[in-house]
Amino acid sequence: MTPFRPDYYPDDGVLARAWLASTPLPPDREARVDTEARQMIGAIRGRSGGIGGVEQLLREYSLTTPEGLALMVLAEGLLRVPDDATADRLIEDKLGQGGFATRAHQSDALLVNASAWALGISARLIGPQDTPEGILRGVVRRLGLPTVRGALRQAMRVMGSHFVLGQSIEDALARAGSRAGRLYRYSFDMLGEGARTAEDAERYFASYSDSIEAIGRAAGNKPLPDRPGISVKLSALHPRYEAVSRDRVMAELVPRVRTLARAAAIRGLNFTIDAEEADRLELSMDVIADVAADRQLADWDGFGLAIQAYGKRALPAIDYVAELAASLGRRFMVRLVKGAYWDTEVKRAQERGLPDYPVFTRKPMTDLSYVACVERMLALRPRLYPQFATHNALTVASVLERAGGTDGYEFQRLHGMGDALYDSLLERHTGVAVRTYAPVGIHKDLLAYLVRRLLENGANSSFVSVAADPNVPVEVLLERPEQRVGRPDRARHSGLPMPADLFGSARKNAAGVEFGHAASLAGLLAEIRRDTMLVHAPGLINGVASTGITRDIASPADPARIVGRVTEVSLQTADIAMAAAAAGFRSWNETPAGARAAALERAASLLEQRRGFFLSLLAAEAGKTLDDGVSELREAVDFLRYYAAEAKKLYGHTETMPGPTGELNQRRLRGRGVFLCISPWNFPLAIFVGQVAAALAAGNSVVAKPAEQTPLVACEAVRLLHEAGVPGEALHLVPGAGDIGARLVAHPSVAGVAFTGSTETAWAINRTLAAKRGPIVPLIAETGGINAMIVDATALPEQVVDDAVMSAFRSAGQRCSALRLMAVQDDVADRIIAMTAGAAAELKLGDPADPSTHLGPVIDAESQQRLEAHIARLKQSARTHYAGTAPARGYFVAPHIFELNAPGELTEEIFGPVLNVVRYRAEKFDALLEDLEKTGYGLTLGIHTRIDATAAYVADRLPTGNIYVNRNMIGAVVGVQPFGGSGLSGTGPKAGGPDYLRRFGIEQTISTNTAAAGGNATLLATEE
Ligand SMILES: Cc1cc2nc3c(=O)[nH]c(=O)nc-3n(C[C@H](O)[C@H](O)[C@H](O)COP(=O)(O)OP(=O)(O)OC[C@H]3O[C@@H](n4cnc5c(N)ncnc54)[C@H](O)[C@@H]3O)c2cc1C
Repeated sequence: MTPFRPDYYPDDGVLARAWLASTPLPPDREARVDTEARQMIGAIRGRSGGIGGVEQLLREYSLTTPEGLALMVLAEGLLRVPDDATADRLIEDKLGQGGFATRAHQSDALLVNASAWALGISARLIGPQDTPEGILRGVVRRLGLPTVRGALRQAMRVMGSHFVLGQSIEDALARAGSRAGRLYRYSFDMLGEGARTAEDAERYFASYSDSIEAIGRAAGNKPLPDRPGISVKLSALHPRYEAVSRDRVMAELVPRVRTLARAAAIRGLNFTIDAEEADRLELSMDVIADVAADRQLADWDGFGLAIQAYGKRALPAIDYVAELAASLGRRFMVRLVKGAYWDTEVKRAQERGLPDYPVFTRKPMTDLSYVACVERMLALRPRLYPQFATHNALTVASVLERAGGTDGYEFQRLHGMGDALYDSLLERHTGVAVRTYAPVGIHKDLLAYLVRRLLENGANSSFVSVAADPNVPVEVLLERPEQRVGRPDRARHSGLPMPADLFGSARKNAAGVEFGHAASLAGLLAEIRRDTMLVHAPGLINGVASTGITRDIASPADPARIVGRVTEVSLQTADIAMAAAAAGFRSWNETPAGARAAALERAASLLEQRRGFFLSLLAAEAGKTLDDGVSELREAVDFLRYYAAEAKKLYGHTETMPGPTGELNQRRLRGRGVFLCISPWNFPLAIFVGQVAAALAAGNSVVAKPAEQTPLVACEAVRLLHEAGVPGEALHLVPGAGDIGARLVAHPSVAGVAFTGSTETAWAINRTLAAKRGPIVPLIAETGGINAMIVDATALPEQVVDDAVMSAFRSAGQRCSALRLMAVQDDVADRIIAMTAGAAAELKLGDPADPSTHLGPVIDAESQQRLEAHIARLKQSARTHYAGTAPARGYFVAPHIFELNAPGELTEEIFGPVLNVVRYRAEKFDALLEDLEKTGYGLTLGIHTRIDATAAYVADRLPTGNIYVNRNMIGAVVGVQPFGGSGLSGTGPKAGGPDYLRRFGIEQTISTNTAAAGGNATLLATEE
């Protein structure tokens, strides 16, 4: 079988056209669908009257309300908080949100019921005038906060157990085997987050194995499909289940899944691989195809997978599975779902600047796709055994009608959902088979799953959320997706721009690459291979290459590999460059801002067109991994477009000021003169281009001095800017070492300096500028930071670990925004530190050009030696939680994690993959903030907490430039997260922010006496 590689983003309109024509059934059959659906909706509405139903409660506190969101966050967080003080703060934080007290139907509220259940207050005692807040306050007064805390914890458990069949597989099997349970088939699911560490993966593997055995023992004698099964998440079985790690996944994950599948096959169970994120679909199909081909599975018809109808590749996926089944002479069980990660998919596509969304953007398109998939799967029987998973009565009725009976397929529902619907269906259609997806696990592991269910129950796009609302007429629920879509040109959500159009008409979002799309990745790699070449970087003065001493540039990943040559300028040549820039200033400054911006926009497009070349050079010269390279290139593109757009606004207009009549007062911005741009090696393209583009956009001429380590990328960027229309007279390049930088700074023609680098060098520049007798010129400095991440006990450990590992180790820690110090509340520290260490151990170090590499080298031998000396010192003085191993060849430094006793022990910025952790006590939170403030830096700060008040408090308390809440703390996006720090971290204004360009210009006010010629004609002509 050839691998599953269909079109990643088929056109919504084309699909809609086909489905709009083919979906409707003849009127009599559509009428039967109506009748059937009405019965089920009636049952749903009839069932929901009773007090205490979780579904009803979620409807009451819909997620579109602040109360609903507060409850969701409370539910998600409370059970994992070990210490009472933090739990109380979380409760207070959430109860303070929204207006619980003002809602109309308070008596149904969760908190009333919850408190009632947990405190033993009879629901009957709660009057309609009672509000959850009121009750809680009353209870707090009477019983104290500890009791309320216990009550809420209990309430959240109740809510959790609504969706979980049992805390252990034995419990779950017992419940499934009860009289009520016997109505249904079961597929058991082991709750938990995806594996972050090898240990996690082993634990899940053991849990799946044990469960298969237990399910097998209780499975009875009926043949498939009427046998129980298990649902397996591939992300739980491998810590790097990602497309770029394909080889590793195939080598390590496939055998694990094969072992589990064999165990399920021996017991004749249904074994379903859950569907996860879209970028993993190709990879999961590769795994599935490989496992399915195992000879030992030959006589087993229980192997299966889930397919998501919201994915635009759903139909090709079905066809592929059918072909695979045919090629193996077997039947596969296929669960059709709509898909659980819609919001995540949309966000990801926007963030990554993908060409399109991999999922539909209108709900009725997902419904149409579902119906199209139903028809395809029914037609592919018996090669496929369809399993239609939905809680939507209209969808169920459509399936029933299209199947023309109850044979050869089953429905599926989630435990705790769809009871009324399926009970009603089973009452009327005795032959129908329904399987329940039954999560099993302890409460702590249920949280992520619970949030998905809460979203599903509470989102107003969801059928279950509206079906039980008596205010919504049944006719609305019966509206067919084809009616809702209407026309092919309405297949897309009108309010959801394409990822490229995220910033509206002002500028295009930089294009990214989906590594999960093998064709995109292969295309990119081919471009990189094709465009790899040796580069020579001389100085460029007035567009002409300068002479000087030439030296080779070696790759930091392999110092024996020469990747280019640089010809560094002499001190005299540096002076010549300054003179040339001074001469070139006037003409560029007089070029209209729009024309200057147009050159930058052309440069952005050229950069995107030549991405292969630049990515190759970034890897070769700066050791950038593919992922880092793509991000950096996108950032450079964004800088060019953003500053172009800003310059048109700020420098392309003259502002008329208010004032007395007979006078025109105009203010405008213009360039300062020669701007000196001194950039670092860690972002040789993005920061270099950012500084230069800002200075140029404002009308300055520029002398750019790139870092000594990375002149090749800089030279190519300058060539590209020249090609795009920036005159050679306006932009000059002077490669060289620190002495050249110092000479340039001291030059009398300097009208401004943009510098990114160490605090030490920034001081030196500042001193030189101050010592000059001449105009006082601005210095825009971005320097380093001792960046911290604060993690309290409400944070989700897996999220923390993802973000900490990415923030500390990505780019081998060589980002000024990188995480240096993680401060973890001691109640949860052991687990979080251990998981961070386990996740760090899964990172691959190596050739940055290899897409599976997570960490490239550090920049040079000096950096490597400094880091190694620092690590050696820490090994003596701190507790080592993780010490990785680095490749012997090249300037690699392995990731390390050390625990310090106090934040004050970290006194300098360590520019590499070294993460320090400290523990703090909840009651000493302020002392922690004081310690962080004492470092004097203020660049980036991460906060992981579910307590909004904590995040707000920290942000108010510390003047840190960029604060990231519940996410990673690197990769600030131009125009979205303006970047730059305070204190020792920089002067501002922020790069990529609305105030940046102003600093590059001077203001000019022109006041004209319009009455000078003898009178104020305009005033005289003004009528009353
Ligand atoms: C037994 C079972 C197993 C499951 N296994 C998986 C699995 O392996 N992987 C997985 O991802 N999910 C899985 N799910 C979850 C499933 O995806 C959701 O329950 C399902 O999407 C809800 O669909 P519905 O027909 O019940 O509800 P509906 O309300 O009709 O549909 C809601 C769905 O529509 C889609 N949607 C919402 N808004 C939009 C929009 N603007 N544009 C496009 N689409 C939109 C989303 O998929 C959303 O979930 C499973 C569900 C069940 C019942």
